[in-house]
Amino acid sequence: MLTRLSLNEERKPMSLMDTLKRWFGGQSAPSTAASQPRDTSAAPSVAASTPATPNASVRIHPAVDGGLKAGSDSFSGGTLHCHCASDRVEVSVTSQCAHNHVCGCTKCWKPEGALFSMVAVVPRDSLSVTAHEEKLEIVDPSATIQRHACKACGVHMFGRIENTDHPFHGLDFIHTELSDDDGWAAPEFAAFVSSIIESGANPENMDKVRGRLKEMKLEPYDCLSPPLMDAIAIHTAKAKGIL
Ligand SMILES: [Zn+2]
Ligand SMILES: [Zn+2]
Repeated sequence: MLTRLSLNEERKPMSLMDTLKRWFGGQSAPSTAASQPRDTSAAPSVAASTPATPNASVRIHPAVDGGLKAGSDSFSGGTLHCHCASDRVEVSVTSQCAHNHVCGCTKCWKPEGALFSMVAVVPRDSLSVTAHEEKLEIVDPSATIQRHACKACGVHMFGRIENTDHPFHGLDFIHTELSDDDGWAAPEFAAFVSSIIESGANPENMDKVRGRLKEMKLEPYDCLSPPLMDAIAIHTAKAKGIL
C-alpha cells in the first residue's frame, strides 16, 4: 500500500515530467536477470543444465505460475474487461504499462485463491472507460488509490490517485491479466511480500514464497522496488526544495 505523503509545497510541474520520463523513457525489461549480480567464476554451462527450482510448487499468481510472458517492445496498449458474463466493463489503454509487479498488499484486487495480485502503472491520460462505466464504483473513497471496481463482479478495473501532491499522481494502476491482448510488459519484481501474512498466508511458508519469487526473477521486496522508492523520495525531496 502506498502511504499518503504530506507535502507542504506546491508540486513543481517538472517533477511529474521527470518521474514519467524516468519511468516511461525506456522499455521495461521482461526479466531482471540481466541486472542480477552473477558469479562470473562459474562455468556458463553449469547453471543452464541444472535449473534449481525447489519451490516450483508454490503458487504466486495464475499469470506468472506458468512462467513469465515477455512483453513486446512495439506494444502500445490494449483493452481490459471485468469478469461479468455480459455487459462487461471495458477499459481501454493506449500505452504500454510500466513497473508491472506482483503485490502482496491487502488492498489490490487479486483473483480467487491467489497469494499475490499483479499490478502495473500507465499514464492516466492513456486510460479511458469505454463500456459500462455505470457499473463502476470506488471501493474506498478515503484511500489514497481510488480503486474503481465493477459493482457486479468485484474486479478492480483501475486505481487512480486524485491527490495532485502524491508522487504517483498522473499514473493509473491496472491489472494486465484483465486483457486478452499480448505484449504487456511482464512483472519485474514482487512488492509488499510480507503483507500476504495479513491476508492469511502461513508465516512459516514465507521462505518458500520468497524462494519461489527469486526462482522466477521476481525479486521480493517488503515495500516497493528501489526505483519506485527512489521516485517517491525524489518527489518528496523536490517538494521540500532539497533537490
Ligand atoms: Zn463485472
Ligand atoms: Zn497492492
